[in-house]
Amino acid sequence: MLGVAELDGLPDEEAPEVAFAGRSNVGKSSLLNALVNQTGLARASNTPGRTRELNYFDLEGRLRLVDLPGYGYARASRKDSAQWMALTKAFMQGRSVLRRVFVLVDSRHGLKDSDIEIMELLDEAAVIYQVVLTKSDKVKPTALAHLMKVTSDKIARRPAAHPFIRATSAEKGDGIDLLRADINALI
Ligand code: GDP
Repeated sequence: MLGVAELDGLPDEEAPEVAFAGRSNVGKSSLLNALVNQTGLARASNTPGRTRELNYFDLEGRLRLVDLPGYGYARASRKDSAQWMALTKAFMQGRSVLRRVFVLVDSRHGLKDSDIEIMELLDEAAVIYQVVLTKSDKVKPTALAHLMKVTSDKIARRPAAHPFIRATSAEKGDGIDLLRADINALI
């Protein structure tokens, strides 16, 4: 694992990359661990808003997963939020090997303003993004189906939004294979 605090410390653009974004505590570390089938690789923590850097995970040189810092942390200062935006924006706009950004959204909460903000940024940068619902085991199947529909309607007219929304549970393993297939199709 490689932590990159400054953008000029990013690795060479020699492998395709997919990035993961989401509000703090959305379950990003847990999902990354489930995806690469390895616990302890992505740091899972109960301290939201702690990670302030980009973490890289190299999958045998074929692909790199990029863990973007969590956003929307309630106690983050205005300055921290601005810094986050600047870092993320620079990354999105300047990274030619970036194939897709997965925007993680908690199945219990749905899209929040901060998620929309990141989507606006991605629309502007013309980077394709795909919504991934997390912690699907926390809601009933009917509620999940409803959220998928509502979310799908909300992103329908966004220029860079991928139409397929995935529902996942890192805890139960639901939807992980499908998401992995989406990622593999990008290599
Ligand atoms: P991050 O801050 O986005 O990296 O989120 P974490 O992966 O650290 O998860 C935040 C909290 O949500 C932790 O308490 C996890 O155990 C819990 N969590 C993450 N994924 C799931 C899931 O699929 N199901 C359930 N029930 N809890 C989850």
